[in-house]
Amino acid sequence: MSNTLISLAKSDVEDILIKALDGKGKGDESLGYDECIRLMRSKDANLIGKVANILKERLYDKTVSFINNLILNYTNVCITYCKFCAFYRPPGHPEGYTVSIDECIRRVGLARELFNIRQVLMQGGHNPDLGIEYYESIFKAIKTRFPDLAIHALSPSELDMIARVERSSTREVLSRLKDAGLDSIPGGGAEILDDEVKRVISPLKISSDGWLRIMEEAHRLGIRASATMMYGHVESIEQRARSLMRIIELQRRTNGFIAFIPWNFEPNNTELKRAGVVKYSSGGMELLKMISISRIMLNGLIDHIQSSWLTNGIGMAQLALHYGADDFGGTLHGEEVVSATGARATTLTQERIVKAIKQVGMKAAERDNMYNIIRYFD
Ligand code: SF4
Repeated sequence: MSNTLISLAKSDVEDILIKALDGKGKGDESLGYDECIRLMRSKDANLIGKVANILKERLYDKTVSFINNLILNYTNVCITYCKFCAFYRPPGHPEGYTVSIDECIRRVGLARELFNIRQVLMQGGHNPDLGIEYYESIFKAIKTRFPDLAIHALSPSELDMIARVERSSTREVLSRLKDAGLDSIPGGGAEILDDEVKRVISPLKISSDGWLRIMEEAHRLGIRASATMMYGHVESIEQRARSLMRIIELQRRTNGFIAFIPWNFEPNNTELKRAGVVKYSSGGMELLKMISISRIMLNGLIDHIQSSWLTNGIGMAQLALHYGADDFGGTLHGEEVVSATGARATTLTQERIVKAIKQVGMKAAERDNMYNIIRYFD
């Protein structure tokens, strides 16, 4: 610890890092907006990363978890036209698709047989032709055939779309889907929780308040969730920090978030790139810094921070494990949203994840969707 303290003394964020190491991540003494801004502006990314790594190792030592997962992008038909999205197709487009209920079940069965998946992650476009029965039928069929398979599905903006189609409330939609088998929900659609940013990148999507309200409704119904942040497009540092603080405020009230996943915007094939608004992604160093800051700011509030290999590759994800991340996310089979940007191959097997974790001297552990460890790989 003494070496760390000597380095800290030269840092412009020394006081914040000492506070973090002292465990001031909880309750009234937690780090706030101003400290978050200072961390984001600091040039001491490596030192911030070192402190984040200490905090992570206090919780998990060298263990890194992952989940065997099938991603089911059930439809790419969408009427929300986000400017950062390369995945959607408008209704009537020849490349638009919706996976039938039978085909969804077939794919889940196959992935279970071939990869022993523990979780199905279902996410898709805002398709106005899909009513709640579509989702209920899929969830019920999965739970009937595979009762122990977790369903992690439908981010708040998709739930909002279903409620609009059904002319119902999101609370009612959540309640029905929970009864049908929904276990937890992904945090997509948060991007940056600031409506000025949303007006530029996704003007037709739910507001920041809407995202937070639906998350709170889910938490109150006992449905846990991950939270995300997609950064590196048009937002300012202040907007980025405020977004994180809004997640922290909700977590203090509900404790419903299990994990936080910061990932950087990938501009290829998107309208933001075509319009010259964003020319390139914010890159690896920024990713490591955001992972570290997330660990420090969320210490004691949200225990799991995922390394994002999807937009930055396995090498960056390995580095992120030294900067505060404790989870490698999921094996990915069938992912289509990020692959639409041409970012990189988006299939990752258990063997590759275990190898990637071992390569950096850490211990791989398979988990379930609630982050309980199922088994270790020696
Ligand atoms: S990000 Fe989602 S809601 Fe936005 S256009 Fe793409 S599929 Fe539709």
